[in-house]
Amino acid sequence: MLACLSAGLTQGKQPVQGPVRKTCDSGIVLKLSSATTSQGSLLLAEISGAKPAQEFSAVWDDRPIPVWRETPASPTLHALLGVDLEKPAGRYEWKITWSAADGKPFACSLPVTVRAGKFPTERLTVEKQFVQPDPEQQKRVEEDQKKMKAIYDTVTPEVLWKGKFIVPLKGVSTGGNFGRRRVLNGEARSPHAGVDFPAAAGTPVYAAQSGKVVLAENLYYSGNTVVIDHGFGIYTLYAHLSEIGVQAGDPVEASAEIGKVGATGRVTGPHLHWGLTIDHARVNALQIVQRQP
Ligand SMILES: [Zn+2]
Repeated sequence: MLACLSAGLTQGKQPVQGPVRKTCDSGIVLKLSSATTSQGSLLLAEISGAKPAQEFSAVWDDRPIPVWRETPASPTLHALLGVDLEKPAGRYEWKITWSAADGKPFACSLPVTVRAGKFPTERLTVEKQFVQPDPEQQKRVEEDQKKMKAIYDTVTPEVLWKGKFIVPLKGVSTGGNFGRRRVLNGEARSPHAGVDFPAAAGTPVYAAQSGKVVLAENLYYSGNTVVIDHGFGIYTLYAHLSEIGVQAGDPVEASAEIGKVGATGRVTGPHLHWGLTIDHARVNALQIVQRQP
């Protein structure tokens, strides 16, 4: 009896866990894979009860995000909500707007609670020359950042993926370091936005999913890097490769070899760094293997 009561009290303080749904005007139903999530996570979102060809606008993180149908006649639309690994903990909303056949506007939303992620912090003291790129290197870093921004600003309005996302190394299912904060000489650096897989140099790296290669070149921090566009704002990134086996513009199939593990860029040893970006949100890439869009 006491146990039940205390469990009830505890639950009252916790945000709702698990999937949520809400019935909105004109029979539209919104669903989210969870009402509670944490920094660096991914939520599956669904709009059902739509008429064929009925259009919806979705907003997440103050930005419009794409919604798509599996077939043009499907009454269900899908979206992925990426929770950036630095999005402040708090309460947010996934907002949807649409118009009825007579043009009457409607709006509906579902609340999402974002909790702080549990990320380790590493404090290091190193000589300044290893922390600060010189002016020439800094120029390269800025050019790299511009390139990446232009890529992530582009939303290809097409599903380029087919079936499941896979881990880009054979026989590997877990990786580490996602979200790790690093404080160098007392100064906080950007958090580590990818998953690191230790692997021997030369190990083949495979495309996690089909798509189009949008970058295949050497960048200052990430070394030989490949970025694949999977459509609708979903991008995967593969860094520190010893060799790149594809070119920008190439279409790739899931599991196609795109390069080999290496230690290029600013690294201490060979490993694969795998990143996932969804509508600009940096998300733990392993989550898209577990939660397929
Ligand atoms: Zn890394």
